[in-house]
Amino acid sequence: MSEQNHESIFQDALGRLDVAGKYAEIDQETIQRMQHPIQIIQVAIPVRMDDGSLKIFPGYRVRHDATRGPTKGGIRFHPEVNLEEVKALSLWMTCKCAVMDIPYGGAKGGVIVNPKELTPLELERLSRGFIERIADFIGPDTDIPAPDVYTNERIMGWMMNEYSTIVRKHSPDVITGKPIALGGSLGRSAATGRGAYHCVKQLEKKKAWNPKEITVAVQGFGNAGQSVAELLHKDGYHIVAVSDSKGGIYREEGFDIPSLMHAKNESRVLKAVYCEGSVCEAVDAETITNEELLELDVDILIPAALQDAITKENAEKISARVIVEVANGPITIEADGILDQKEDLIVIPDILANAGGVTVSYFEWVQNRTGDYWTEEMVNHRLEGVMCKQFDHVYELMEEHSISMRTAAYVLALNRIGAAVIATGTSAYFSNKD
Ligand code: NAD
Repeated sequence: MSEQNHESIFQDALGRLDVAGKYAEIDQETIQRMQHPIQIIQVAIPVRMDDGSLKIFPGYRVRHDATRGPTKGGIRFHPEVNLEEVKALSLWMTCKCAVMDIPYGGAKGGVIVNPKELTPLELERLSRGFIERIADFIGPDTDIPAPDVYTNERIMGWMMNEYSTIVRKHSPDVITGKPIALGGSLGRSAATGRGAYHCVKQLEKKKAWNPKEITVAVQGFGNAGQSVAELLHKDGYHIVAVSDSKGGIYREEGFDIPSLMHAKNESRVLKAVYCEGSVCEAVDAETITNEELLELDVDILIPAALQDAITKENAEKISARVIVEVANGPITIEADGILDQKEDLIVIPDILANAGGVTVSYFEWVQNRTGDYWTEEMVNHRLEGVMCKQFDHVYELMEEHSISMRTAAYVLALNRIGAAVIATGTSAYFSNKD
């Protein structure tokens, strides 16, 4: 990606806020604040490699806004991490937490590394090294990291342990997405898919669908994609296509999702060497490409893989009636413009559709702070309450202003952040003393 593109990611994110700003009841100081992350830390992490050599990995932590509470956001390990992307992701986190009305601002972190090239011990040293560098900036009351692309619960466990060592206090509430044995929350691993499922169920009520007549395609049959597919399947939806990085499969009558999950995650029955461990080997079905999956004539399309899946090149060819953005940023801003022209197409935006994950992360933090651990039923029940309530808020704003659901979600976020900004006093307050 060119430097030019890097720069535009944060500007694009701000552009979406500007559009929503026209409908939000806010003081302009809110937008002014959103344009400037409150803190940006750049670090260099020296790691002793297994062969005795030294490698230095660059990393970032960006705290975007803390008006509504401590900042929250994942840590990404990826070779293409760059500061502008981390800034944009931190802004999205501010908005996502506001949409869900959880008392956090937004943050994000990243390390430039290909973790697949590291041994487990090197990965542990890197994870601990990153925390050692940012320990003065994070904390249970200031900034609470979580997993993101190529970081997982084991890495969160190492990071929590490292932070606890540095502050000489057991601090499970400094990070979420931890293993259950180290203070993680029940229900966290399925939370993102479950949150997206509740969005679909709310839409089902509004549109009076019969799930048995609805077809669904899921791009990215990983953690979040599998969870949402499994829950929809249980309710009678026909999941007719799924894919992973190696390709996709299509079956007109729909898949039995539990068997597919079993085949992908455990048995790994080989049908074709080229797609070992991939969904395309799992069952008898038509093999399709990821591009074909996106263009299928289905009712619901769920991009649950990576960002930028739908671009200006393929947006025109999208036939789905509903898109549920489980991935972060799967639709580029140009593609958004094209999809907006399609009458009756509803896009449930990422800052709502995939917010089940950060919501249960918040539940995890609450449990760590109180020492009162909830059952999985409690977690799921509370998640359902939050998702349905905020979905309805966004939907009402969409109808009230005749805007897209994405813009409506940003309006809701801005209204909430704006109320907090006004409560601290804006120029309207300070310059009118009479
Ligand atoms: P994951 O790694 O478990 O699954 C990702 C899946 O996508 C894998 O099956 C992978 O093979 C597949 N994939 C990769 N490239 C692909 C491509 N080009 N085409 C089709 N499939 C491809 O990750 P996850 O946790 O399920 O996250 C998926 C998306 O959801 C990411 O964009 C992530 O940022 C977003 N998200 C996840 C969470 C969470 O809690 N897991 C929360 C918010 C957002």
